[in-house]
Amino acid sequence: MRNRRAALAAIAGAAVLALTLTACGQNSEGGGKEDKGPAEGSTIGIAMPTKSSERWIADGDNVKKDLEAKGYKAKLVYGEDDPDQQVSQIENLITQGVKALIVAAIDNKSLNNVLQQAKDAGIPVIAYDRLILGTPNVDYYASFDNSKVGELQANYIVDKLGLKDGKGPFNIELFAGSNDDNNTKYFFNGAMSVLQPYIDSKKLVVRSGQTELTQVTTLRWDGATAQRRMDDILTKSYKSARVDAVLSPYDGISIGILSALKSDSYGSGDKPLPVLTGQDAELASVKSITAGEQTQTVYKDTRKLAEVASNMVGAVLDGKTPEVNDTKTYDNGAKVVPSYLLQPVSVDKDNYRKVLVDGGYYTADQLK
Ligand code: BGC
Repeated sequence: MRNRRAALAAIAGAAVLALTLTACGQNSEGGGKEDKGPAEGSTIGIAMPTKSSERWIADGDNVKKDLEAKGYKAKLVYGEDDPDQQVSQIENLITQGVKALIVAAIDNKSLNNVLQQAKDAGIPVIAYDRLILGTPNVDYYASFDNSKVGELQANYIVDKLGLKDGKGPFNIELFAGSNDDNNTKYFFNGAMSVLQPYIDSKKLVVRSGQTELTQVTTLRWDGATAQRRMDDILTKSYKSARVDAVLSPYDGISIGILSALKSDSYGSGDKPLPVLTGQDAELASVKSITAGEQTQTVYKDTRKLAEVASNMVGAVLDGKTPEVNDTKTYDNGAKVVPSYLLQPVSVDKDNYRKVLVDGGYYTADQLK
């Protein structure tokens, strides 16, 4: 009985909140007319790239939740890493009459036609985490400082190896993300801005010789693809040497690299695992870090990113200018897209509790 009453009270409370939110939106427009402000019931389309990685599931859920808290409805779709599927999903959202689109692109160049359709229908578009290239029909960009992600990974390697103290030479191998993701070059170039001087001075040696971005990308960020490449590198270039560090741009790739390393007896006997970076603080990788396998990851709080993107939608639909903090970096080839960039944080076994558990991203139980 008490539970039922509590539930009814909660529903009533939520209804009042929803009405208040709606009223606030309408008041700020000064009229409360249906076609102005975040009219209750407007639907926002959210197109995410894949459910194969935890982060995008969290992103989708968080954006949906934030939009609903603002009084919108949300339609969330996942393109399962298939660019054509993402295009038709966005076409469907446009046909269904969404009032704005939030898109994390699978392929940064395949959306131009469908975004023209969005423009023609008067639908504003927010690029979510990944910039969409070659079209003026992207209104805002919500992301992280993507160069900084690469710098954090590379600086971690530099510190762990003691390169600033003159130690070395060490062997390193380099991995990058998908070549159709605009973030890939920012991550890689950010990392290389730190690593290149050590490669030039031969304190870091890339025995495979694969140092160009075109040689080290991993299509669709696939862990199995990375594992095969690492297997191959170990077989061809490390018969009589040991790899000391691996630059990995993403946790799913790091897990693949780790499998290749373990198959080659790294992590046992006199073959310690190399310093191995990552990104996204995915559960499997955080557990691997606490177990002393993967060494580092870059945490990007998807709750904050979701909030930035949904605030952008709210502002645009309210006829206001969304808050941005970067109007120079992200030129998509057609325009410089006004951006809000959040700060990524390096995480390893020394600070994961403070950052991830105290920060409420994971519970201590989830990490057991
Ligand atoms: C995101 C990364 C993610 C990668 C693979 C990138 O666009 O910025 O956080 O690791 O995609 O999903």
